[in-house]
Amino acid sequence: MSQELTIYNSMTRQKEVFAPLVEGHVGLYVCGPTVYSDVHLGNCRTFTSFDIIYRYLMHKGYKVRYVRNITDVGHLTDSGEDKLSKGARLEKLEPMEVAQKYTNGFHDMMRRFNNLPPNIEPRATGHIIEQIEMVQAIMDNGLAYEVNGSVYFDVEAYNRKTEGDYGKLSGRKLDELLAESRELKSQDEKRNPSDFAIWMNAHEGHILRWNSPWGEGFPGWHLECSAMSTKYLGQEFDIHGGGNDLKFPHHENEIAQNAGSCGCGGARYWLHTNMLLMNGRKMSKSDGNTITPQQLFTGDSEHVSDSYSPMVLRFFMLQTHYRSTMDLTDTALQAAKKGYGRLMEAWKNLQSLEGKGGAQNGTVGRELEELIEGAYAEMDDDFNTPKALAKVFELVSRINALKGGQLSLEEVSPKTLEALKETLGTLLFDVFGLQDEGVAAGADNDALSKVMDLVLDLRAQARADKNWTLSDQLRDALKEAGITVKDGKDGATWTVG
Ligand code: AMP
Ligand code: ZN
Repeated sequence: MSQELTIYNSMTRQKEVFAPLVEGHVGLYVCGPTVYSDVHLGNCRTFTSFDIIYRYLMHKGYKVRYVRNITDVGHLTDSGEDKLSKGARLEKLEPMEVAQKYTNGFHDMMRRFNNLPPNIEPRATGHIIEQIEMVQAIMDNGLAYEVNGSVYFDVEAYNRKTEGDYGKLSGRKLDELLAESRELKSQDEKRNPSDFAIWMNAHEGHILRWNSPWGEGFPGWHLECSAMSTKYLGQEFDIHGGGNDLKFPHHENEIAQNAGSCGCGGARYWLHTNMLLMNGRKMSKSDGNTITPQQLFTGDSEHVSDSYSPMVLRFFMLQTHYRSTMDLTDTALQAAKKGYGRLMEAWKNLQSLEGKGGAQNGTVGRELEELIEGAYAEMDDDFNTPKALAKVFELVSRINALKGGQLSLEEVSPKTLEALKETLGTLLFDVFGLQDEGVAAGADNDALSKVMDLVLDLRAQARADKNWTLSDQLRDALKEAGITVKDGKDGATWTVG
């Protein structure tokens, strides 16, 4: 492993040199989606950020076990209905049909963004036994109590036992929380408003229910992540991630459950992504302030003036550090579209270049080496993709200048240029996870290439015949299919996106 990797740990609120529990191995747990509706672009931002983190850890040579769960029970709406049951009621489907439908949709979306699948994708409903066992262990430690078939985590008892640990991730103090929640409608069963349910009694009509030592019920939402991370990564593991809206109560309660059940630490590094905003407000399903990736791919939304392909959106996300908020605007997306195009163009240009210098580099050759090293160094600094991208764009200018003859290839050794092709390719495609959409969906696809040859011939013929109706029709149909045609002196070329 080349350079040290530093990671910002939300728990200690500082950057730390990353040192995994077992050398060469990383256990990574990320909270997955609640599958009761389509994912929005904000969710995609979080999962794409962790995809880049996962890719970079692998690039550093770590063998990573990446676990990302599917929440298909226990996540309640504000009115206390299970989100899956609500989806089932509205769509007249079985809850598990709802879960499958939106899990499929989620997977499809992850593929379009070129996010790698996790190594394990456990479902909450598939781990009821593990969750019941954890509830039991917490009760055995005197940190939970049962009332009418529901089991509550006793936050005060836990806080006493751990000498004030509750709230250490989110920075909330139990006293303040108690004062705040006194205002809220008290929930009769709980001894204290800050206590939270780890097992809930299923009332009549509640569809999702399982037998337990406390009667028929279902697990509390926070419990699944504690139980499944422990099962697949161990009582102590390396990294836990999620959006920063999950810090409280979800992650805080996860920590309490882990410590409350086994006295163990759970995750050692907590990573939180910041929110995607739209028009300055958090993109959120419950506020209706969302845009689906599909709407952006087709441009079918009042919020945008154009269509934006998955890779343009991925590039857009790379431009902001995962810990900063990101504002979705049409202007920013337009800029990303241009930037992505420029990057892919430079990548193609680079392939046609050959260093003509001697074994020793001149200034330009040395700059190329420094810039690519600098880009990787930025990634080592808490996965700083925008700064890495800035270095890449300095490379882009030089590559284009070498291609255009403003800079001389005599100043670059052949070895440096060959190495750059490899290291830049690794960064763009393996680490950033970008794809050249023109290549991915175009030239590599034989059938599409043949059809496009035919369509462009027809278009050329129509133009030669001054049949403007047909030529306009072809242009519009291609545009709708997401294919851009450019006329040049050597004939027409086309790209997807
Ligand atoms: P959910 O399906 O609501 O449980 O959310 C799945 C993941 O998406 C969680 O890690 C959330 O923190 C994250 N998330 C939700 N809204 C946004 C947003 N606007 N920007 C970034 N991440 C988000
Ligand atoms: Zn979780």
